[in-house]
Amino acid sequence: MNAPLPWQTTQWRTVGRARAGGRLHHALLAAGPPGIGKAQFLEALAATLLCDAPREDSACGECRSCRQHAAGTHPDCTVLSPDPLQRAAFSSYPGQRCQHDSSRKKPATIISVDQVRELRERLHASAHYGAHKLAVLLPADALNTAAANALLKLLEEPPDNTVFLLLSQRVASLPATLRSRCQLLRFSTPPASVARTLVEQDDPASALALDLAGGAPLRARDLLAQDVGAVWQTVCQGLAGLLGGASDPLSLARECVKLPPDTLATTLHGWLRQALRRASGQPGDAAVAAAAPARLQAFAQELDQFLRLQEHPLARELALQRLFYPLWAGNTTPFSAKPEQS
Ligand SMILES: [Zn+2]
Repeated sequence: MNAPLPWQTTQWRTVGRARAGGRLHHALLAAGPPGIGKAQFLEALAATLLCDAPREDSACGECRSCRQHAAGTHPDCTVLSPDPLQRAAFSSYPGQRCQHDSSRKKPATIISVDQVRELRERLHASAHYGAHKLAVLLPADALNTAAANALLKLLEEPPDNTVFLLLSQRVASLPATLRSRCQLLRFSTPPASVARTLVEQDDPASALALDLAGGAPLRARDLLAQDVGAVWQTVCQGLAGLLGGASDPLSLARECVKLPPDTLATTLHGWLRQALRRASGQPGDAAVAAAAPARLQAFAQELDQFLRLQEHPLARELALQRLFYPLWAGNTTPFSAKPEQS
């Protein structure tokens, strides 16, 4: 991708002006919620910085550097991510030696200090083509403490002609020392009218996906690819069954553990939002069963806990059972809220 997305022109012009004036900051931090195209912006920016013959504000798409960037083989671009298979952009770039171990059962979730050390060695070697050397961190949120400290040293004394491109969905949780070394580029969710143009407008599943994604169009596309409509139906019917006593936490957990974890988590959140809306007397999705506020409150607490446990797949079915207890009409569990008086 050589151009930014339609709602990113302000940030693109900011960087373009700095580049044209020879004032490009050596570390740019793209921050904002997930699913709105920050990584795609950085990928387009990387293409422009690497291009041998950039046009006014974008890469030519034809030169040797552009072809290598598209193929993920540009020697002056290093991409660090916990797991290369999980990348939304720069997906053609290979993982580094220590990044992906195919024998692991689940994706890595951190960028390690070894990865940053390897990056430092690569950056201190001279640039192959002379223009820029790029270090891309997707996302910087994945740096563990040791890796963040190692990166900070690099940012304090950057190798010549190096530009660091960092991405963050939780910029406030990055170390302040790291943030202060970067120029912050803030991204926000595009207007609903723009977001709708990126998904099938007449498809009810698209409207649902956009709503669940909080208006983030790329996240909505991911959800659609994972059949979010079917997951929503399973969750709504399952939770209605729990509330009405027709189902129980064990059987629903058994059913839900088969669903894509990420889509399930987003869907459960969306269900809770709708149920709270209904509980406060506002109109909501008719598929969401009515529930007493006390039950929803207990469910909300368990949901926070559940999302923290997402990294442990083996414990997921148990965690789901625990999550569902507060909504169960036959609720007698010791570890969640008492059933409300009705
Ligand atoms: Zn080019």
